[in-house]
Amino acid sequence: MIYNLYKQLSSAYGKQNWWPLSGYMNKFDEVSIGAILTQNTSWKNVEKALENLINAKVLSLEDILNTDKDTLKTLIKPAGFYNLKIKRLKEFAKAVSKVRKEEIDRDFLLSIKGIGRETADTILIYGLDKTTFVVDAYTKRLFYRLGIINYEKIDYDELKTLIENNIPKNLEIYKEYHALIVEHCKNLCKKKPLCDKCFLKDWCYNKQN
Ligand code: SF4
Repeated sequence: MIYNLYKQLSSAYGKQNWWPLSGYMNKFDEVSIGAILTQNTSWKNVEKALENLINAKVLSLEDILNTDKDTLKTLIKPAGFYNLKIKRLKEFAKAVSKVRKEEIDRDFLLSIKGIGRETADTILIYGLDKTTFVVDAYTKRLFYRLGIINYEKIDYDELKTLIENNIPKNLEIYKEYHALIVEHCKNLCKKKPLCDKCFLKDWCYNKQN
């Protein structure tokens, strides 16, 4: 069922090609900055903040470290919670500056203050091409509504393991599947779902209206 869902989403929405990169930063730096900025805010707001950083030539984690807080505050303001996010960005930049890229794994990322499991997995898969699945609130919502899981507040790692055990261990599939879930939840399986338009409604356990 879990792999079949991936196939259905994939044929409905096509290739997502995540992560959306600007091309102005190196991949790891841009994914990490974006993953921290997107905590508790929409990607639209992050895009504005990233655009500000690029225009100000703050193009790497090293630049983040070397830019004063007041300047950063103005630049990342659109992403909200800027005091906290500046702190997190600087702590992250400092931590990764002390190690080689090859040494960065999940445990290392989780040891950095402000980096939770979703952010860590996002950085690992989209920034470092590690085959690890990202779970988010959309994943929990969709899998619960489809009846794949029994409770929406399922533990992050429990759902991650369930998904990883039921799809091929393939980097592209992992990358695409997460992006497709986000796409479906933004388009149809919203907070108030548009079930009458949904191609999954025939087998959806919790379809509404
Ligand atoms: S039928 Fe409704 S609840 Fe089920 S996946 Fe589609 S939009 Fe979501």
